[in-house]
Amino acid sequence: MLTAAVSLLFCAACPAQNSVVKVGSSVIPEETARYVEVGELCAAKRDYKGAVTAFREAVKRSPDVPELHVNLAGVLIRTGDYAGVVEECNKAIALRPNDPMAWSGIGPAYQMLGQNAKAIAAYKKFIELAPKDPNRPRYEQAIKELEADLKSGKPQADSDPNNYLAEVTFDGVHCWSKSKMPLKVYIANGAGLAGYRPEFSEIMKKSFNEWAAASNGKVSIVFVPNKKDSDISCGWSNDRSKFVLSDEAGQSIQTTTDEGVLHADITIPCVPQDPAGDPITPEAMHGTCLHEIGHALGMHGHSLHPEDMMFASDVSFRKSAAALTKRDAATIQALYELKFVDSKPKAKAP
Ligand SMILES: [Zn+2]
Repeated sequence: MLTAAVSLLFCAACPAQNSVVKVGSSVIPEETARYVEVGELCAAKRDYKGAVTAFREAVKRSPDVPELHVNLAGVLIRTGDYAGVVEECNKAIALRPNDPMAWSGIGPAYQMLGQNAKAIAAYKKFIELAPKDPNRPRYEQAIKELEADLKSGKPQADSDPNNYLAEVTFDGVHCWSKSKMPLKVYIANGAGLAGYRPEFSEIMKKSFNEWAAASNGKVSIVFVPNKKDSDISCGWSNDRSKFVLSDEAGQSIQTTTDEGVLHADITIPCVPQDPAGDPITPEAMHGTCLHEIGHALGMHGHSLHPEDMMFASDVSFRKSAAALTKRDAATIQALYELKFVDSKPKAKAP
């Protein structure tokens, strides 16, 4: 899953804006258009993997149409393939150097890859090409923050091969204080909610215990029967429209003050993204629980490595059973060596 800021910055590249034979200012053969249509349908159903496949077919047939590369990039970012986004946007830029859409697409991908100087340059180029874009203030804010990070000498993303501490502390250090341990965790009973299965609560419980074990004693957990007594409260929902980002696998929101973390709320959907799709598998639920618990424990960003549980991607893209990696463990341990610093008081971690 992406951070809210990054995915919102990318909204300009919405594939649904194209018509059947005219894409942006380009005209494409009907055969290509059919793949574009399939890609758009997949993207509308949030089947980004399917959309990538269809848009790739379109690009293969009409490689000289910049809009098709931008469309492909727009769904690649949803699968966490940031290098792929850079590649496709660069192809679009080579074909049409002053296409603002390509520049607005490549910026967040550079940012996710920790290439901040390139991200700043891309955002500046976008503002130059589309000065009246309604999202301009967001791009300006992103530039300001990235420039401040560069100046402060803050570790850049992916600077340590053994952990991803730099990525999960991009807006401060949001670990819980030692005095709060053991953290009191409440898990709601979802009985009666369509799609909910009792095994989900067991998976959530197991996932908390796995993070506690991975933290090597730095995070401890006790389960409590009442929400009002909890530090972290976990609930279930079958209404994705209530999520900050409706296509997220789950949602975790920390409430913080200047002193430290006060509370965290985790909400996990118990219905699949595609209402007509297969029910959520235990493996996918396990991946979602581990990921959202990581956010609730203070990881506000994402790993750039697809095998880590804190990688920003839909869990349906994970090929293996969910399990914390050595890097997940090293990161939670390193995070809890640090002291709470909130540089963005109302940060949310979807
Ligand atoms: Zn996430």
